Amino acid sequence: MREVASSAELRAATDAARDAGAGVGFVPTMGALHAGHRALLARARAENAFLVASVFVNPLQFGPSEDLASYPRDRDADLAVLRAEGTDLVFLPAEGEMWPVPPEVRLRVGGLAERLEGLVRPGHLDGVATVVAKLLHLAGPCRAYFGQKDAQQLAVVRRMVADLAFPNEIVACPTVREPDGLAVSSRNAYLSAAERRRATALHRALRAGLAAFAAGRRDPADVEAAARDLLEDAPGVEPDYVALVDPVTFEPVKQAEPGQVLATAARVGRTRLIDNVIL
Ligand code: AMP
Repeated sequence: MREVASSAELRAATDAARDAGAGVGFVPTMGALHAGHRALLARARAENAFLVASVFVNPLQFGPSEDLASYPRDRDADLAVLRAEGTDLVFLPAEGEMWPVPPEVRLRVGGLAERLEGLVRPGHLDGVATVVAKLLHLAGPCRAYFGQKDAQQLAVVRRMVADLAFPNEIVACPTVREPDGLAVSSRNAYLSAAERRRATALHRALRAGLAAFAAGRRDPADVEAAARDLLEDAPGVEPDYVALVDPVTFEPVKQAEPGQVLATAARVGRTRLIDNVIL
């Protein structure tokens, strides 16, 4: 596995791979790699001759009161995971390499980024779109792999690639969960043992929503209520939202149908967790 820190090296290496006839697979991450990232890497490894990953904690997507400074960072552990998954090249830019000066030109996503996560984390998805745009430019034409766990982020990236004609194919990968259903996340490391047990309420709530749909409920309010009731009854869990939305626009739906996203965010202690399921 080759480690590079400069944009020029990433560009040159991916160009060389394409020139040699290799398809490029790209997995952008913020590090603290876990089983969710591993699933993306494994899928990308299987589908491409040349596998690139990036590790960059992007300041543009953190709000002023968010956990940028304390976000878990463990370079050696990340490199071990990347090696084990057969990564060919890892891009490890310093902040000054990605953003030598704060970018004057940034992407601003429309209503898609103003709902759900956008209401609670204004500017977050604009920051994600801006860094993913830059990373995709550096990686060049490739397949890029994103997790369904961050469903609204996935929708933003898909829309950016479509609206602005990026030469990339976006591949969505299913959410990897702990045995008790909790979606694997770097932020789970913040949870105390008691909070960790409480955090299972998110997935249990989403399953209650799925069960209501499976039982024939088609009024979105009924599906949402099934999930919200469980979340509100869970001790030490403060829901931000529970919403049944269109998977492309993230607008509220009029009637529950297969393929729609039931999404939730909740605070467990001081940790904010998100999760979703597809009807
Ligand atoms: P992050 O490092 O949190 O920015 O995540 C990098 C990528 O991994 C994103 O595309 C995430 O959606 C994806 N990801 C994070 N957690 C999971 C998970 N539990 N299952 C699948 N993909 C995930």
